[in-house]
Amino acid sequence: MSTGPVSAGPGSAGQLGTPVRLGTRPAHESHGVAASGAMPTVGPLVDTFGRVHSDLRISITDRCNLRCVYCMPEEGLSFLPKDDLLTFEQIARVARIARVLGVTSVRVTGGEPLVRHGVVDLVGRLAELGFEDLALTTNGTSLGHFAAPLAAAGLRRVNVSCDSLRPDRFASIRRRGDLARVLSSMDAAEAAGLQPIKVNVVLVADVNDDEILDFAAFARETGRIVRFIEYMPLDADGSWRREQVVPASAVLEQIGGRWPLEPVAAQEDDPAPATRYRFLDGSGEIGVVASVTQPFCGTCNRLRLTAEGAIRNCLFSDDELSTRDVLRAGGTDDEIAVLLRRAVWGKRAGHGMDEPDFLRPVRSMSMIGG
Ligand code: SAM
Ligand code: SF4
Repeated sequence: MSTGPVSAGPGSAGQLGTPVRLGTRPAHESHGVAASGAMPTVGPLVDTFGRVHSDLRISITDRCNLRCVYCMPEEGLSFLPKDDLLTFEQIARVARIARVLGVTSVRVTGGEPLVRHGVVDLVGRLAELGFEDLALTTNGTSLGHFAAPLAAAGLRRVNVSCDSLRPDRFASIRRRGDLARVLSSMDAAEAAGLQPIKVNVVLVADVNDDEILDFAAFARETGRIVRFIEYMPLDADGSWRREQVVPASAVLEQIGGRWPLEPVAAQEDDPAPATRYRFLDGSGEIGVVASVTQPFCGTCNRLRLTAEGAIRNCLFSDDELSTRDVLRAGGTDDEIAVLLRRAVWGKRAGHGMDEPDFLRPVRSMSMIGG
């Protein structure tokens, strides 16, 4: 079967592969409203609400060298067998097809992406595809070692997760983490030109929300963009409670009371989830990701590829279509393209966290790819 170059307009019904649904939610429940017409077979990746998808998150492993309390269990998580993962060649192929369909921005994630052997090689392959933006999210543990080779391979920038500036607390939240190592990895990333560094801080009430001002001061001193992320019900332990969410509004009130802030006007072509603010005195920038209290689903442009090749249209939706099955069956580029289109077309209006029938997704964050 041909694996020739995908056209911009693939997808007559006759070209469909046989995607396998991995999720648990019945197909007919997957739409906020019924689609008003047939799925487009040309043009960009668009859903039934007109949202154009141009951002692809690629998880390359579900494994991790840490066990953050809000993400993984301390013990007992089983990982995908290596044979179940997409190969780098397969990942690059899906990314190439996505690019033809209008994806301009790719983020490599996991699990911890830097634990997968050969990650620099993969980044090089993705860089060759010519995306406008190529970024990676990491817990920073091995970034000191990888920063320069990743930059040389074509990575543009990194987000480094860091939930406390106090070594003991950092170690207890990340269960195994070493703050000094992560801070020095940020220096290494800057030295390698992976800028600007964004620092992801997941706030959990009564765990680290007394460090909001410390992190704001850190942003001012270092020029790194600290992004305060609301805790989402994606922890593997299933212990998330709404009371543990620290609302973005409270973060802004606290920081703005100390160092006045002004919003950074969102670019029309930048549907990034973080709402950006700069310090009025010119000393840097912060962001808030209010996924729980002010969902930004209306402008969501993201699509995810899990480590075993499932296309997922939302962190909170278990509807998945398997690229791996199509790839392994010798499917064509057009069949993969149709799969991407179908995944986007099936996207619901929002994550529905406030709806009475909201169900936590079956997979937790590290299994999806954050
Ligand atoms: N291992 C890498 C890291 O920690 O940066 C990349 C993968 S991690 C799943 C991606 C991001 O998701 C991290 O910034 C992490 O803090 C965030 N995250 C994990 N679980 C979360 C949760 N339950 N709610 C909000 N953010 C979460
Ligand atoms: Fe690992 Fe990242 Fe999850 Fe922490 S948040 S357990 S570092 S995948």
